[in-house]
Amino acid sequence: MMSMRIDRLLCEMNIGSRSKVKEYIKKGQVLVNGVKVTRPDTKMEGNFFRICCNGKEYSYRPYVYYMMNKPPGVVTATSDKRDKTVLDLLKEQLLSQHQGDLAGIPVKNIFPVGRLDKDTVGLLLLTNDGALAHRLLSPKKHVPKRYLVKTDDRVLEEGLRQLTQGVRIGEDEITLPATVLQAEDENTYFITITEGKFHQVKRMFQTVGVRVIYLKRLSMGTLSLDEELPEGQIRELTQEEVADL
Ligand code: URA
Repeated sequence: MMSMRIDRLLCEMNIGSRSKVKEYIKKGQVLVNGVKVTRPDTKMEGNFFRICCNGKEYSYRPYVYYMMNKPPGVVTATSDKRDKTVLDLLKEQLLSQHQGDLAGIPVKNIFPVGRLDKDTVGLLLLTNDGALAHRLLSPKKHVPKRYLVKTDDRVLEEGLRQLTQGVRIGEDEITLPATVLQAEDENTYFITITEGKFHQVKRMFQTVGVRVIYLKRLSMGTLSLDEELPEGQIRELTQEEVADL
């Protein structure tokens, strides 16, 4: 259960600057679950509050979780000098879903869980839940990640066997056993890996003599990309999806 000062909580919810929210509080314009809060240092304990501030209603939850179907051409970073980031895209999408007003959403604290290359598409989880991110990314947990891969040439039986058993991609250890399946389409494969080394899938296929020309992440742990979610769009995870993570 979280415990936080009301002024910080309102600030994290993007309702206003620290000084602005203090002003709202002192003027008696903030109600939490229907009760007026007049001191900025009042501790809030719990996981859900209805907040009324300056006449607007918000519901507060400590954590938010979004699934993105990452399009090509955006970088998995929170900021970048040159390229559009997944955070820029998330904000753009949230602004359009919330009629241009992000008050009530802790956008400042959201980050992507793990990394997809600029040209990789598919499932990306974005959240402000650091503990969950840690769990999903910890090398010790071996969370499975499933990808659809298209290559510039056919991988021979021997190559598929090598990918399954582990290949040397220039690291100390060979890659952990993976599941590799040939898809119906030509030069198309499904691979499930339980690590997250830099460019891992591309480097693995390189060792068997082919180049990855399209890479899409389909799932991460229990979370699968929603097939109805168009590329470049986001949606909140359902309660069930969050509970399963
Ligand atoms: N493996 C890669 O090579 N690239 C990605 O984006 C993800 C996994």
